[in-house]
Parts: sequence; C-alpha cells; structure tokens
Amino acid sequence: MGGESTTREATVMMKFKANTRRDLPRIAEKLRFDADQVTDMLAVSAVLPFRVNDYVIENLIDPKSVPNDPIFQLTFPQRGMLEEKDFLHMRDLVAKGASETEIKLSADKIRGQLNPHPAGQMQLNVPLLDGEVVDGMQHKYQETVLFFPSQGQTCHAYCSYCFRWAQFVGDADLKFASREASKLVDYVRDNPQVSSVLITGGDPMVMKTAVLRRYIEPLLRANLPSLHSIRIGTKALAYWPYRFTEGEDADDFLRLIGEVKAAGKHFALMAHSSHSRELEPEVARKAVDRVLNAGAVIRCQAPLIRKVNDNANVWAQLWRQQVQLGMVPYYMFVERDTGAKAYFEVPLARAYKVFTEAYSQVAGLCRTVRGPSMSALPGKVLVDGITEVAGEKVFVLKFLQGRDPKWANRIFFAKYDPKATWMSDLQPAFGEERFFFEAAVDEALAESARKG
Ligand SMILES: *Cc1c(COP(=O)(O)O)cnc(C)c1O
Ligand code: SF4
Repeated sequence: MGGESTTREATVMMKFKANTRRDLPRIAEKLRFDADQVTDMLAVSAVLPFRVNDYVIENLIDPKSVPNDPIFQLTFPQRGMLEEKDFLHMRDLVAKGASETEIKLSADKIRGQLNPHPAGQMQLNVPLLDGEVVDGMQHKYQETVLFFPSQGQTCHAYCSYCFRWAQFVGDADLKFASREASKLVDYVRDNPQVSSVLITGGDPMVMKTAVLRRYIEPLLRANLPSLHSIRIGTKALAYWPYRFTEGEDADDFLRLIGEVKAAGKHFALMAHSSHSRELEPEVARKAVDRVLNAGAVIRCQAPLIRKVNDNANVWAQLWRQQVQLGMVPYYMFVERDTGAKAYFEVPLARAYKVFTEAYSQVAGLCRTVRGPSMSALPGKVLVDGITEVAGEKVFVLKFLQGRDPKWANRIFFAKYDPKATWMSDLQPAFGEERFFFEAAVDEALAESARKG
C-alpha cells in the first residue's frame, strides 16, 4: 500500500498473473497466513470458485490487516462461506490428503445444494426470437437486454460472494453463452422497446477488444434507432485497470468507445465498485481518466457486503471518491440469495441504515445513487424507508424496475422484520394475504412451467 508499489507500477507494467486454488500455499507466504488458514481456504475453494491476480494481492490487499482486510474478504475463500458440516467435511478431506477426484465429488454434491440461478433467471427471463429461445441473453425489464458473450464468462479475479459462480465452475449445463451477435441484433430490431443493451458476464473486459468489436460493431452497423445505449458491466477498473491503460488493446478499446459515440449512442461502463481502496492506485485513476476522456460515462454499483463494505463511512468515502474522479454513483445492492449469502448477508434494516447514514453525509452530486436495492423475482426493489403506518412498523418498499413495467416507481409495504435479509423473508403489512404483484409472478412461473 506504500509509495513503493505505486512507483513500481508507474514505471513497469505488471504482467497479468491469475492465481487459483493450487497457488494458495505460495500466496500464504506473501499475505502471511498460516498452514491452518491455508487448509481452510483449500477446503472452501474446492466448492466455491477462487481466482485472484497478483495486481489485487500486491496493490489492493494490505497484508497487515489480513484476515479483516476488505479486499481480502472480497476475494479469498473464508470458512464461514460453507455450512459448518460441509466445511468440516471438506476440511477433513483436504487435511487427510484425499485425492482430487474424491474432493471434487464431495464439492459437486455441496454445490448442488446451493442456489445457482436465483430470481427465476433460468425460467422467466429467456428471450424468444421467432418462437425460439435465444441463448446467452436475458430480457427481464422492458428497456434493457442483458447479453452474455461466451468468451466473457470469467473475471480478472472472483468476488467470493458472486452469484455468477455457477458459470465459473465449469458446469456446461449451467452456462449461458452465445457466440451469435447477429441474434442480438435481430432481437433488438424485433423489440423496439429495448433501448439499452448491457453486455455482461463474468466480466466482458476479459475479452480482447477485437472480440468485443464482434458484438458491438454489428449493433452499430444495423442502424437501430430505438437502441440508445450500450453498456458493459465490469470490475476491471478495480481488478485489472491495465486493461484500459496499457498497449494497443487498451487504445483500441478507447477507439471503440469513440465509435459507439459517433454512431449516436451512449456508452457506459457499469463499474462494479466495492471499496474506495480500489480507486487509490495511480493506474486505476489513469484508467478512469482514459475511459472518460474517450467519451464514456462510468456508473458505479456494488452490493453491500458484510466484512467488505458494511459501513456508512466506507460508502460515503467511496461515493465521494467516485464523483471526484468523474464517475457516477448508481446502485447499492443487497446481496442476493445464493452461494455464500449466509456469510455475507446484511439484514435489510441494517442496509437501510448504512445507506441512509452514508447518503446523509455526502453532497447532492453523490446522491445519484439509489439503494439498498434487491434484484428479486418481481423486480428491483428498493428499501425506501422504515416507518410506522396506522400503528404498525413497516418497511416502505419501492419498485425501481418491475417485471411488469407498470410496477416501476410503485411503493408497497411489508411488515418490519429486523432479521429479514431478502424479499422472500418479508410478509405484507396490514394483515394482507399477498403482495400486489405475487399473483402475476405466480402466473408467469406457471406459464413457463407449462412451456417446459
Ligand atoms: C439491473 C438489471 C438491469 C439493468 O437495470 P438498470 O436499472 O437499467 O440499470 C437489466 N436487467 C436485469 C435482469 C437487471 O437485473
Ligand atoms: S467481477 Fe462481477 S461477475 Fe466477476 S466475480 Fe465479481 S461480481 Fe461476479
């Protein structure tokens, strides 16, 4: 964290080096953790994907604060991420030197019990083109389609809480992927209500610019007046900022931004931005600067994660830093109901408090941020208040995005529950049987089940 690494990175470009499970013993020396901790991490990382690169280790993690360091918590496997009995079972296998085959068999079994595709992703958000399912896309909210290029299904490092882990562990059945940019163009043309294409992954910025071009250029050439914006969801500004600063490929990406602009479209990087630490290295600031100068907007979003950014001052500092560098605070998310959620989850009541305390200490320029928001089955739902109505303590909830566009900006109420961490924990307030949207969601699920 000292000046030394900054000087080094300013003069010599780091080579990208990803570390995985088998590198843990070597990383242990660098980050000063002991043999017991290594065994724990080997046990957890057999089940949940682990990948961290040298830039993250050397520039974002402070060895003196391990294991409490926020970026260490963000990227390294931790014992509490598995249920205790699963953890003990895996640890036992690792400690007694079980074969990789045996370890993998147990890991697969545990993984099968986790929830790889929450919020009806698989059943409900599948787009159709001429009656055929289009692979590698999701279309949930009227205005925006998500596109998952098949070469972008990995990241420069993995966040240990990520719900996309199902795509990283090499299970082909669970993979969304598409090589077919032309299908994307056809779909956008057929659906003029779509004004925004959001390219996501994994992290699409793991792809070379030439590959990104294969997806983006057809959208520009197709002359689609209803398409207003192209966005890329990425954590590369944090995990590998050299992607934007070094070499011909970086320069070509900046040119691509210019071409999107020249075609009259808005270009946005949707930056996954978890902690102000990520924006401190000189190279990260340079990356932000170059992307902005090329004509893109950078909007910032991240989930609220226990042990990573579960603190109002951390968020306030993060938003200030983003605005100072010319980025736009966009969403604070609530962690989803999958993977290692139990380890990272923060009750909705606490999320609301953290958001409010952070929001109240920043200038209006930072208050473009919205949250805390759950990406749940019916839509993006904001926890907008905790109050009392007719003698009952309630959460005030609001749709930012709805599966039905008419739900947007509509408020509704749930019984206050200090322990609730997700939509599915909530009950309607005022003795009502169901939330207003539940019948419609059930109907959609039944419909998709009928179609098989
Ligand atoms: C969040 C999200 C989007 C993008 O929503 P915006 O509010 O436009 O940023 C699109 N599709 C899905 C499924 C999402 O969860
Ligand atoms: S960078 Fe994004 S997709 Fe990759 S692990 Fe983190 S949250 Fe998941």
